[in-house]
This record gives sequence, C-alpha cells and structure tokens, in this order.
Amino acid sequence: MASTYSAIACPHCGCCATEDYYYKTWEKFIWCYRCGYSYEKTIDYWKNANEPVYSEREYKGHGMCLVHKRDKKGFRKILHRTLTSEETSECLKAFLDEDVDLKESYFVTFENGIFTTLAGTPPKDFYLPYDEYKEKKEANNQQLEIILPGIKSF
Ligand SMILES: [Zn+2]
Repeated sequence: MASTYSAIACPHCGCCATEDYYYKTWEKFIWCYRCGYSYEKTIDYWKNANEPVYSEREYKGHGMCLVHKRDKKGFRKILHRTLTSEETSECLKAFLDEDVDLKESYFVTFENGIFTTLAGTPPKDFYLPYDEYKEKKEANNQQLEIILPGIKSF
C-alpha cells in the first residue's frame, strides 16, 4: 500500500505525533505516543464501485504507561480514558519491580491539557509543543521521530 509517514502536531495534545497517510485511498491514521491519542479514517465500503465511504474512529489520549524491563518483558499501556485510582496504583506498582529500567520507563497522564509524570523518566523534550520540539531538533540537526506502532516488541 502506498503511504507516507510524517511527524505532525497531535490534534489532541499538540506534541509530536505520527501520521500515516495513504495518498491513493485518502485513508489516514494518526497516533500519538505522548498523550495516547489515535485516529483512523478507513474505507468502510464502496458506493457505486468507485466512490469510497469512509468510517472514522477517534480515541482521546489520557496518557501512557511504558514499562521497560531488563528481561524485555515490559509493556506499554495507552490510556484512552482516565484511570481509576486502583488502575493508577496498579501501574505505579509495576515500577517497584527491581527488573524495571527506570530510565527507560515512564508513566505520564494527560488530563485537561496537562501532562503529569507519575513515575519513571519520560524522554528528554518529549512533551514539548510540536513547534518548539521541531525547532530544537532542527537546531541539533535531528529529524522528528516517526514512531511506528508495534515496532518495539516489549
Ligand atoms: Zn497527543
């Protein structure tokens, strides 16, 4: 399938997100590994054989819990709703495991437009607004990253 990946400003949190755009079918996917937002526009069915009818799905992001373990058995939780306090403490508990690489793991929530780090170490500059982030990257001759879902297998 013909598609292009690009770094865009997340429509939900304004940080750097990834868009996958299929320029032949106009299908589109967006995902944000900052706030957890995702969006997909896909062809649902064809009307009159040549007229695509699209369906759209959008999930608001409420944060991300990434636990990276030295034995590679970590996990990534994308939060599509506000966690209950039990769920929050469950995520926090995962950080107590001595196998967890605290430098590579983080638990960040996104509520009412505000990121809050609850545990671990989010990557440097990860939560800068898109423009600011882009400027900083360019000043260092770096590309904005494209994060492909499922590429990291922990
Ligand atoms: Zn976002």
